[in-house]
Amino acid sequence: MNTPVPQDLTQAPLRRLRGLGTQRSAELEKIGLKTVADLLYYLPRRYLDRTTIVKCRDLREGLEATVVGKIASTRLTQFGRRPRFELVLADGTGFLRCVFFNKASVWPKIFSKGENVAFHGKVTFYDGFTMAHPDFDKLGEEGEARFLHTGTIIPLYRSSEALGKVGLDSRGFRRILRVAVDDFAPKLSDPLPEGLRQRYHLMPLSEAMAQAHFPENEETLKHATARLKFDELFFLEVFLAFRKAAEETEEKGIEFTAVGERTWQLVEKLPFKLTEAQRRVLREIRADMKSPKPMHRLLQGDVGSGKTVVALITMLMAVENGYQAALMAPTEILAEQHYITSREFLEALGVNVTLLVGKQKKSEREKILEEVASGRANVVIGTHALIQGGVEFQKLGLVVIDEQHRFGVMQRAALREKGLRPDVLVMTATPIPRTLSMTLYGDLDVSVIDEMPAGRQPITTAWRPGNARRQIYEFVRKEVSNGAQAYIVFPLVEETEKSDLAAATESYETLRKNFFRDFSIALLHGRMKPVEKEAAMMAFKFGETQILVATTVIEVGVDVPNATIMVIEHAERFGLTQLHQLRGRVGRGEKKSYCILIADPAEKQNGEDLGADTRKRLETMVATSDGFRIAEVDLELRGPGEFFGTRQHGLPELKIADIVKDAKTLFAARDEAFALVRQDPLLKKPEHAAIREHLLKQYRDRLESVHIG
Ligand code: ADP
Ligand code: MG
Repeated sequence: MNTPVPQDLTQAPLRRLRGLGTQRSAELEKIGLKTVADLLYYLPRRYLDRTTIVKCRDLREGLEATVVGKIASTRLTQFGRRPRFELVLADGTGFLRCVFFNKASVWPKIFSKGENVAFHGKVTFYDGFTMAHPDFDKLGEEGEARFLHTGTIIPLYRSSEALGKVGLDSRGFRRILRVAVDDFAPKLSDPLPEGLRQRYHLMPLSEAMAQAHFPENEETLKHATARLKFDELFFLEVFLAFRKAAEETEEKGIEFTAVGERTWQLVEKLPFKLTEAQRRVLREIRADMKSPKPMHRLLQGDVGSGKTVVALITMLMAVENGYQAALMAPTEILAEQHYITSREFLEALGVNVTLLVGKQKKSEREKILEEVASGRANVVIGTHALIQGGVEFQKLGLVVIDEQHRFGVMQRAALREKGLRPDVLVMTATPIPRTLSMTLYGDLDVSVIDEMPAGRQPITTAWRPGNARRQIYEFVRKEVSNGAQAYIVFPLVEETEKSDLAAATESYETLRKNFFRDFSIALLHGRMKPVEKEAAMMAFKFGETQILVATTVIEVGVDVPNATIMVIEHAERFGLTQLHQLRGRVGRGEKKSYCILIADPAEKQNGEDLGADTRKRLETMVATSDGFRIAEVDLELRGPGEFFGTRQHGLPELKIADIVKDAKTLFAARDEAFALVRQDPLLKKPEHAAIREHLLKQYRDRLESVHIG
């Protein structure tokens, strides 16, 4: 036993901190900081580098600089019709002018004459050196010299109004953290074994903690941050490795030994040859199914890469081994489409396919439930309706989940619970960058279809402004006259649903009566009755409808190969992944396809580019059809949390590390974590006691529900 289990520190309640007092510790408790350790892990949101402060006399145009001084004057003026706030900062060597346009009237409440402030921004020259909307930090009184030393890097902490009221603004935090670091950081015991620390040149934890709050210089700060990031990623990966190991040591799953006659028949009957990538993933799936270990496989493949047929073959394999298979899709439209496809291919082979969705009548539903329970239904396709109470399978051996990002962890688990350790295949068309899939699905095996079916032509994508609408619709008319089918999509966002729906319906009416009156055109949106939706979808699928005006209900899965034109109205309102999914509705056959994005992003205002992200999204769409590239840009623009709703996956949000920027650390942490768990599956060895302790502390709740996938 060479590593003591860290206990002392984390147990110490915050009020025991020198000079903190009950009022402030109560306030801190409200934001989740209960112990001294919690406080130590409340890391600076950023740092103010006083080592590179620029004096006013040294300012130059174009320089990005921090300037520290006293506010010499403030004024609220008019700029044309808009109010504007201006102040002048003096630092003894000259002056800097700062201007604020937005919400001009709030600024006088924030800044007053005589205050010490640091501004950071880009310097322009306009009536003297100027910064527009600079970042700022109020520095408080001169008495705080301890933190104001030039040549020091100052930590800045997140605060709030309530915290500010009890003196816990950034400055207040600095004061109490100084104490916490001085008194407690040296007592932090390090969960990482010496050897591991040396391999990655990681700073000891106590030192890293001290340097993260009060760095001596850039270099030590970098080291400290690297250490803390490693910890965060390492424990996340240990958790994932642990969960995966737990899955694997649990009861045996099903061994699907037979590859029957009918599976081969299906492959031969397909109207196309499977791509090499499809064959490869089928081999991977096959190996999982044969093994007694329950399959947990993520099948990733860009929109249109042909995941459905892989699902069909997989389901047939289960059926041929005497089991039932269930396929869950996020929308009724999609479930129905899968139902049609499955029947087309599977019924001739003597497989009974059943559809279970919410809209069915009671009598019909009862009949279906009976078929499912008796095992007469071999393949059951449905929506969330599948996971409701009352749905019982006779012998569920395989669960397939389509477009799994639309489902939460619990929903996936719920379907799984309907069987006895069934094999699970989850499919996604949202291409996930490798870094992200590793953290999100650290415990899933991943198969990738990285090849499109042969004969596909690249989709031509264009971005046009609203005033080009006439020409665009002219183009649609021409193409549709020549036998093509087109989608015209309108945005429908939940909060603005009513007005969006009205706008879409109105536009549809206009298009129907005017521009496309000599064509057959129909409307499809989520608020329609299920029967109407189905009818609209079928009419389009069978070519009776030439132009389908739709909201985003068609976003996922819809497969009408003859549709070759996708017009997206108000494309600026869609996310990048969503645009890519929508575009994926075309280009599914051998004919040339087009995607036209109609969008007018916000203009530049006062040098602030409000439409920058939108433009980047649209430009990316025009530049590439590669789902992985698109996902990367999307991730960059939105950040990992937003991008994938990480919370949905039951994983903690990372506080320090960024799985994209810190990918290298993530890979290393993952290797180490998985090696550790392989070598010591229950972390019982004394030298791993500290890791185990740390893991339990952070992940106790999640470890208890470890069987949830
Ligand atoms: P997704 O991966 O987006 O779910 P689908 O499974 O809907 O894609 O497949 C898209 C289209 O490609 C379908 O019309 C399907 O029949 C067709 N398809 C699938 N595999 C192949 C293949 N190997 N060759 C040609 N077409 C294929
Ligand atoms: Mg699909």
